[in-house]
Amino acid sequence: MITAPAWQRRGACRGVAEPLWDYVLGPDVIEYASARAARLAEGKRICNICPVAIQCFEWGYTHRETGLWGGQLIGPKGVVRIPGAQRHARKESA
Ligand code: SF4
Repeated sequence: MITAPAWQRRGACRGVAEPLWDYVLGPDVIEYASARAARLAEGKRICNICPVAIQCFEWGYTHRETGLWGGQLIGPKGVVRIPGAQRHARKESA
């Protein structure tokens, strides 16, 4: 078992119950692409104000985790672009 690092206690996501940071939701969950993009964009919005985003990304990347880590989406093969994130960002600023 890997012990959670101390910096996680200072994460902006602490106490947020929604699975905003998951690469994909469970195998029994159907999530449309637009809903996934909106979910990840919301997670990234929180990551962008997080004081430990650098530590978070380093941890996720070096431990080969998937999902949002430090505001970057890490997939099974490495960092990937968040699908539809720019479209959702434009809606937020409009
Ligand atoms: S960067 Fe994002 S996922 Fe990482 S601790 Fe901060 S809010 Fe949580």
